[in-house]
Amino acid sequence: MRSQPVPPPEQDVPAPSPSHGSAQPADHVDVLIVGAGLSGIGAACHLRRRCPGKTFAILEARGTIGGTWDLFRYPGVRSDSDMFTLGYSFRPWTDPQAIADGDSIRRYILQTAHEHGVDQHIRFHHRVLSAEWSSEHARWTVEAQRTDTAESVVLTCGFLFACSGYYRYDQGYTPQLPGIDRFTGRIVHPQQWPSDFDYTGKKVVVVGSGATAVTLVPAMAEKAAHVTMLQRSPSYVVSLPSRDGVTDALRRWLPPRVAYPLARWKNALIATLFFQLSRRAPGVMKALVRKGATAQLPAGYDVDTHFGPRYNPWDQRLCLVPDGDLFQAIRNGRASIVTDHIETFTEHGIRLASGTDLEADIVVTATGLNLLAIGGMSLRVDGADVELSDTVAYKGMMLSGVPNFALTLGYTNVSWTLKADLVSQYVCRLLNHMDQRGYQICTPIAPDTLQRQPIIDLQSGYVLRSVNELPKQGPATPWRLHQNYPRDALFMRRGPLQDAAVQFSRAPTAAPATGSPLPGLININTQESFSCADTSSLAAPPSSLAPPAASARR
Ligand SMILES: Cc1cc2nc3c(=O)[nH]c(=O)nc-3n(C[C@H](O)[C@H](O)[C@H](O)COP(=O)(O)OP(=O)(O)OC[C@H]3O[C@@H](n4cnc5c(N)ncnc54)[C@H](O)[C@@H]3O)c2cc1C
Repeated sequence: MRSQPVPPPEQDVPAPSPSHGSAQPADHVDVLIVGAGLSGIGAACHLRRRCPGKTFAILEARGTIGGTWDLFRYPGVRSDSDMFTLGYSFRPWTDPQAIADGDSIRRYILQTAHEHGVDQHIRFHHRVLSAEWSSEHARWTVEAQRTDTAESVVLTCGFLFACSGYYRYDQGYTPQLPGIDRFTGRIVHPQQWPSDFDYTGKKVVVVGSGATAVTLVPAMAEKAAHVTMLQRSPSYVVSLPSRDGVTDALRRWLPPRVAYPLARWKNALIATLFFQLSRRAPGVMKALVRKGATAQLPAGYDVDTHFGPRYNPWDQRLCLVPDGDLFQAIRNGRASIVTDHIETFTEHGIRLASGTDLEADIVVTATGLNLLAIGGMSLRVDGADVELSDTVAYKGMMLSGVPNFALTLGYTNVSWTLKADLVSQYVCRLLNHMDQRGYQICTPIAPDTLQRQPIIDLQSGYVLRSVNELPKQGPATPWRLHQNYPRDALFMRRGPLQDAAVQFSRAPTAAPATGSPLPGLININTQESFSCADTSSLAAPPSSLAPPAASARR
């Protein structure tokens, strides 16, 4: 496939002006980051720390920082992995809560951007539409459209870094729900939660069984008359404390710069172990999860129907509930789970395949996301379109046949940021290495014989719907990362930068390293790019100890 079409902007904009594409003289930066979410802000901070001589800018389609953590505003929105691993490696998470609400995470990203001075380098309301690589000039020419004025903007860069998340922002996924038009109540998708939505005393049905549904149900149950979670099939649900006792103790006795990496490694290792155990001994993990759920549900509860998936743990993501809040809402009768199929919507609710009628004033369609790779941008390399689905991810972050390009696709089995940090660190190592050797171009080349596999190894519906349109991965490194953080960390931070799968070269007519700087661009060292030391070894992983963590994806 080609890169997917760009979804319409989240706010209305006038039609593109006739000058669309014509453009003024391009601004140039060394590195252009797309997206000012958790990953894009992290990438910019890493660049400042590790490549202080590089100029950069961030193009962001929306008007704010934070991405996911600004977009999603539904009741109870929170992390479902611990913040010591969802936080950045370089900035301690200091709040008491290990599982944090959306607002706190958004504030953390904003404060990080501010503290590192990268917020001044964001161009808001710039949606990147396309990028075209020229090997002759060793440059990307990037076209963006302003989402506020529809103006076309052209920039050039030496390296393009897509930190644009993994799903469409303009609309979530809603399957065909039979008879939905008959329903006279209100239907809401969690991705477009109305800010003034009052559901006090209402009968609510949440359709879905993923992380969003299990978050919404206990949160809405606090005010609603009753909340029913309607699922076709169950998920694995694991309760974890919202505070991390071991980390609290570490933080009491040690300064943040020591306690935080210890907590981060502890939780990363535990989550990795949990995942490995699920893959190697699924029966053991199934029994453990079932036992945990049974202990928190009322006596005689049908655990197997509502909490006993047919697949193995981590074939789809696990759902984490802090302090067992979902189980508690079921215990106190404010929420219930129904496992059944929708026959049809009626005027006043939903008729199920079993013949039962569920009454509802409000139906929340927690039915998922629409995956979208690299923010919907289209790529061209020396005049040829790049079909994303034909590319193979090199080290989980560059694409075969696409020079000077990286993308951040976080882990699915542990916190996103663990991998986002590794990708940024690797990009910085790579840029410094190229400067030191006088290279301008770096291109992964996949052998024709390389066996290709889906890049996301999950059976969840939202993955299966789109995984064929995404880049592929190979069976082994460097064409694969292993969803194993300690192993990947060693490989990405210390592993070789040059191998048989990647070509480094010099451009025939490379433009000067730094062009006309954009307003507010960092160019601390304008002398020569050789001055960027490879500081990757500074981030050596500390050793670690003790308990809990699990993670999940929407
Ligand atoms: C509700 C929810 C909860 C989650 N909870 C967790 C969790 O607890 N733990 C975990 O590890 N993961 C979680 N995830 C996954 C989560 O998305 C990541 O943790 C992380 O926030 C992703 O950050 P990102 O910056 O890569 O992408 P995003 O947060 O999606 O940010 C991408 C940014 O890029 C911008 N953008 C996109 N396309 C373009 C374009 N063409 N031009 C310009 N800008 C563009 C977007 O506007 C956005 O600001 C959750 C996801 C969701 C939806």
